[in-house]
Amino acid sequence: MTTFENLNVSPILLRKLQGQGIVTPTPVQAAAIPVLQSGEDAIVQAQTGTGKTLAFLLPILEKIRPDRTEAQALIITPTRELAIQITAEARKLAEAREGLSVLAAYGGQDVERQLRKLKNGTQLVIGTPGRLLDHLRRGSLKLGAVRMLVLDEADQMLHMGFLAEVEEIISLVPRSRQTMLFSATMPDNVKRLAKTYMDKPRDIRIAETSR
Ligand code: ADP
Ligand code: MG
Repeated sequence: MTTFENLNVSPILLRKLQGQGIVTPTPVQAAAIPVLQSGEDAIVQAQTGTGKTLAFLLPILEKIRPDRTEAQALIITPTRELAIQITAEARKLAEAREGLSVLAAYGGQDVERQLRKLKNGTQLVIGTPGRLLDHLRRGSLKLGAVRMLVLDEADQMLHMGFLAEVEEIISLVPRSRQTMLFSATMPDNVKRLAKTYMDKPRDIRIAETSR
């Protein structure tokens, strides 16, 4: 059986996970974490509720440098609820890395607060396409130092009509990046998005039965 120790998750993050009662990786975590740690692009397909969030958060949190203040990782989500949920999970774990700041950027929330936070420096940004573009156009968010890009719930994102926005955001992320795409299903529009914006992605697919 794979353990988080076998996956080389750092002891300090391990303790944080244990504190939340998370001790054994789910199948998608066991399969995706080593690939994502290696820096390769990956398309990860697994049902909802299988633990995909930690599959990308753990490698990202280990690679981020809290001593640099620029945004180094960007997670795009289709809904504010999902952005809030991922941000909460990331913040709990980020306590393990001193100086690491996580920003949630979604509509409906006071933009001034987000602007202040961006000004003070935030290494991990999690947001919805519309609000992210708003910050990019204002110049309050810069993506020049982003090396890790996550498209979460890619199928939902395209289903909700965010293709053009997502493409505009991706075009502002340096090409020397790791791109990670997570989706419960893999319709043609998601495959096309992956083909256009990913570099030799590894395919990780967890069958429904292994949940
Ligand atoms: P998905 O993104 O695949 O829909 P989530 O990442 O939201 O799934 O995880 C679903 C639930 O499972 C969350 O409540 C999360 O805390 C929990 N979870 C994730 N990984 C583990 C694990 N290794 N052990 C126990 N619970 C886990
Ligand atoms: Mg998810």
